[in-house]
Amino acid sequence: MSATSSASESPTTKTFAEFSQRADYSFMDSLQADPEATKDGHDHHPRQVFSGHYVPVTPTAIPGPEYIAHSKTLFNELGLSHELALDEQFRRLFSGDITVAQEPMRPIGWATGYALSIYGTEYIHQCPFGTGNGYGDGRAISVFEGLFKGKRWEMQLKGGGPTPYCRGADGRAVLRSSVREFLAQDYMQALGVPTSRSLTLYVSRSEKVRRPWYSNNSMSIDPDIMVDNPVAITTRIAASFLRVGQIELFARRARSNSNQQALIELKMIVKHLIKRNYQQVIDPSLAFTDQVVELAHVFRERLTSLVANWMRVGYCQGNFNSDNCAAGGFTLDYGPFGFCELFDPRFQPWTGGGDHFSFFNQPIAAEANYQMFLEAIKPLVTDNMEAMGRLDQVRNTFGEAMSRKIEAMWAKKLGLISYDETLVNELLQLMVLSKVDYTIFFRKLSNIPDQLTDLKESFYLPISEQIDAQWNSWLKRWQGRIQSCGDLRKTSAAMKLINPKYTWREWLIAPAYKKAEQGDYSLIKELQAVFTNPYDEQSLEVETKYDRLKPKKFFKFGGISHYSCSS
Ligand code: AMP
Ligand code: MG
Repeated sequence: MSATSSASESPTTKTFAEFSQRADYSFMDSLQADPEATKDGHDHHPRQVFSGHYVPVTPTAIPGPEYIAHSKTLFNELGLSHELALDEQFRRLFSGDITVAQEPMRPIGWATGYALSIYGTEYIHQCPFGTGNGYGDGRAISVFEGLFKGKRWEMQLKGGGPTPYCRGADGRAVLRSSVREFLAQDYMQALGVPTSRSLTLYVSRSEKVRRPWYSNNSMSIDPDIMVDNPVAITTRIAASFLRVGQIELFARRARSNSNQQALIELKMIVKHLIKRNYQQVIDPSLAFTDQVVELAHVFRERLTSLVANWMRVGYCQGNFNSDNCAAGGFTLDYGPFGFCELFDPRFQPWTGGGDHFSFFNQPIAAEANYQMFLEAIKPLVTDNMEAMGRLDQVRNTFGEAMSRKIEAMWAKKLGLISYDETLVNELLQLMVLSKVDYTIFFRKLSNIPDQLTDLKESFYLPISEQIDAQWNSWLKRWQGRIQSCGDLRKTSAAMKLINPKYTWREWLIAPAYKKAEQGDYSLIKELQAVFTNPYDEQSLEVETKYDRLKPKKFFKFGGISHYSCSS
């Protein structure tokens, strides 16, 4: 499942001049700029933005940028030569210095506004003006859009300085959160989970920002110290960065008639979304209302698949608000996310997330976001009762669609041809009772063991005789089912393409960003390599180090088992 496509092809983009030639700005060219914005992009203070799809803004470079890493997989996919990551102009651009832009590239970036809904409730108070007009990309700035091997990609700096949506904050991202997002995107891609992608990671050798964080070995829930962190910029790329919250913003404006352009701007952004993220699957010759209904349908399919994938690999997004939900149906915004080690359906590393956004609640959180998406696109079909009816139908069957995807995911994880509700529910209960490691357990199960002993290596605690007996009974029934699924060797191999060998273990990530703070990037490189092939066995050395239960001492550690935020 890992994406190593075109690794052997020679790069088509070798120099910065060639890179610049790829520029093609569909977002800026087909959508509307805030009419109150500056022309030169010097717009770095919080202010209300009342209309338009974007604000032209220049990034603020980090001083003394040093190369840490680039995604080899992505560079191969885009046809970029690996030397580019070290090229002086390329490095300057992706560390925030857009003055290096060469025509047809533009020396200006853009930030977008969006709205926020949490669990289906609209919020406006996150914005300092209490109106919602100051909420959006506070520190994310897109600096490039272009075509690479016939595919359109937008490139966005994270931590590239303040925008009008910064809400008074510094616009920076610390090295820790940048390393996490950079590695996680690459890892999710290799897992086969749709995601925004990592391009590059550069750190400043001189600029630091102060953030609350945890002292060494702290068991505190909230951060207990202030720490000076180096600032970094990671560039993420995607077909578009349009979010559910972004579509909502224009629908809210249209609903409140806040300006005459509002409904037109809503239509424009939805058309743009279809073009950027759904071009291959939505027939442009359809009437627009039919395209909107089709969009609702395909987005539902993508979102439900996405969440099933998250559950398959143990991923918890942590803060699945509508502004962190990509309208293209992929994973976006790696903030207080985590991967479940000790299995707990209520796993949630973010201390602010509660049960709402916990591991097994993600289908419901997704539905809440989907509901907001549908409400936002409805104004575009109000004059067509038949289309409205079809939209309602797509919306009302979201739960069923989600269940189908999740059931198929469990069947595959267990190597079964079809879902068996009793078998899965009993298994999940036993997994909770036995305190299993989510990844190690399913990987060991993929060996199709005869004996419980093999699976016990994934248990965090010894189990009672009674649970032992329940496990044996379960195992026997599962064995019976799996025998009827055909060749065991083939089933086992298929399970190993679904159940990764290597997962994200925060206690193994923390040393990487801590060393990086001291200028040593070796662990980041090591993790990058491990995460490139998470379904492979890899070397004994890698196995010994990375295929391990979480050591006892890391349970309840602030910054590892839980975090308030990671930015
Ligand atoms: P997040 O929780 O990371 O999704 O961020 C929520 C919002 O706060 C987003 O709109 C961010 O752009 C903004 N934000 C977070 N940190 C900063 C920062 N240091 N400077 C400016 N904006 C920020
Ligand atoms: Mg966000």
